[in-house]
Amino acid sequence: FVTEASPAPSPSPLTEIFNAPKNSTGNYIVTLIPGDGIGPEISESVKRIYRAAGVPIEWESVSVTPVLKKGKTAIPDEALNSIMKNTIALKGPLATPIGKGHVSLNLTLRRTFNLFANVRPCKSIVGYKTPYDDVNTVLIRENTEGEYSGIEHTVVDGVVQSIKLITKEASERCARYAFAYSKDIGRNRVTVIHKANIMKLSDGLFLEACNEVARDYPDIEFDDMLLDRACLHIVQDPARYSDTVMVMPNLYGDILSDMCAGLIGGLGLTPSGNIGRDASIFEAVHGTAPDIAGKDLANPTALLLSSIMMLRHMRLYDYADSIESAVLQTIADGKHLTRDLGGKATNTEFTNHVIESL
Ligand code: NAD
Repeated sequence: FVTEASPAPSPSPLTEIFNAPKNSTGNYIVTLIPGDGIGPEISESVKRIYRAAGVPIEWESVSVTPVLKKGKTAIPDEALNSIMKNTIALKGPLATPIGKGHVSLNLTLRRTFNLFANVRPCKSIVGYKTPYDDVNTVLIRENTEGEYSGIEHTVVDGVVQSIKLITKEASERCARYAFAYSKDIGRNRVTVIHKANIMKLSDGLFLEACNEVARDYPDIEFDDMLLDRACLHIVQDPARYSDTVMVMPNLYGDILSDMCAGLIGGLGLTPSGNIGRDASIFEAVHGTAPDIAGKDLANPTALLLSSIMMLRHMRLYDYADSIESAVLQTIADGKHLTRDLGGKATNTEFTNHVIESL
C-alpha cells in the first residue's frame, strides 16, 4: 500500500493492497484465528457458509495461545508466519486478562503488523429494531498512535503525564487509506473529525496531513468537523454521515465507533478491518462472550460481516454480495434469530438458514 504522497493510481489504489499468494488449486489461503470463548463456534459458522457458497479460499487455522519467548509472553511464530505469508487473516475474539497476565494479544497483533487503519462500518440491519433505521456510517480510525502510544509517566507524586503522539507519516497513511477506501466503496466525501481548535498542534497536524492528501483526490469532496459536533449530529441524525467516510485520530475513533455501533444494535453486529501495508486482519468488534461460550448460542453475524469486508478487500465481490444478502435475509426474515436478537435459534440453526438462503 502506498504511503508516499503520490497521486492515486487508477482505477483504484486499493487493488495495490491485496496481492496475496494462491495455492496450487488457485485458491487464496487465509489465516484463521478461531480465538477464545465463542470464537471457535462462530468461526465454524463462517467456514460452513463459505464451503456452501464455494468461496475460493483455503483456511489456515492457527492458535495464538501465548508462548514464552525470552521470558516474555508472545504470539507463537506459526501464527505470525502464517499471517505474514498469507497477508490476510480472519480473527475470532481473544480474551485479555484484566490487570494481570499477558498483554493484549489484539494490541500485539496490531503493533506487530503495523495495522495502521481500523475500518468500522455501521449499517442498520433490516429486521433488527433500533431507534434509527437509516444508519450507514463508515469510520476510519488511526490505529497506531495518539493517546494510545503508551507514553505515560509520573511527574511527581499525584501528577501523571500521558503523551499524545501524532506524526505526519502515520496521519498521512491513514488519510490516504480513507480517501482510497472512500473511492472504492463509491462515497464521494471524506470528513476528518478532530479537535484542532483545542489540540492545535497534534490534531492540527492530523488535519493538515488530511488536507494534503485531499489534493491528490480532486474528485472526492473533503471537509472537517469538530468531534463534539459530530457526536451531536450522529445521535440526532445519523443519515447526515451516510455519504462520507469519517477519518480521525485513535482515541476519537475508538469512542465514536462504539457510539455508531450502539445505534445499529450494539457491538454484537459490528464488523471491522485492521488494515496494514503487509497484512490485514478482519474481526468482529465483540469479545469472547464467556457467558454463552460452548452453548451454541452465539450470533455469528459480526464475524460473518467482518469476513464479507475481507472478501471485498480481496476483490471477491460476488461472493461477498451473495453471502451478505443471505445473512441479511436471514435476519430480516426474523424466524431464525439468535437469542441476542430476541429469537430462539442456536448458532447452528441460524447458520443452516443462511446456507439455505445462499
Ligand atoms: P463481550 O463482547 O465478550 O460480551 C458482552 C456481552 O455481549 C455478553 O453478554 C455476551 O454474551 C454478548 N455477546 C458478545 N458477542 C456475542 C455474540 N456474537 N452473540 C451473542 N452474544 C454476544 O465483552 P466482555 O464480556 O466485556 O469481554 C469478554 C472477553 O472478551 C474479555 O477477555 C475481553 O478482553 C475480550 N474482548 C476481546 C475483543 C477482541 O478480541 N477483539 C474485543 C472485546 C473484548
